[in-house]
Amino acid sequence: MKVRPQRYKCPHCKWDFAYRKKRCCPGCGTLLLIASDMLSDSDFTALKSFWMWEPLKERWEYIRDWDDHKREAMQKFEEYVKEGDGRIEPSENRNLIKHWIQ
Ligand SMILES: [Zn+2]
Repeated sequence: MKVRPQRYKCPHCKWDFAYRKKRCCPGCGTLLLIASDMLSDSDFTALKSFWMWEPLKERWEYIRDWDDHKREAMQKFEEYVKEGDGRIEPSENRNLIKHWIQ
């Protein structure tokens, strides 16, 4: 699973770039986060809305409200596990939880 994109394309100004500048788009300064930034839950709560790289969909996803997103992610995750029938390994499983819940 690719955790970070090879190249970034800013979802806001469509700028195509290889490296973020301080977690931001170098073109317009929009905050673009990826899971490996290791932000804590309280950081996300403080930001509330931001763009986040979704490695499963390979695109940027706009988080309008982190608390809502967390609730939804948890639900989605439970459904995913229920219908999972062994498609995901336990270790990968833990990574997904980390990615969604962190
Ligand atoms: Zn931009």
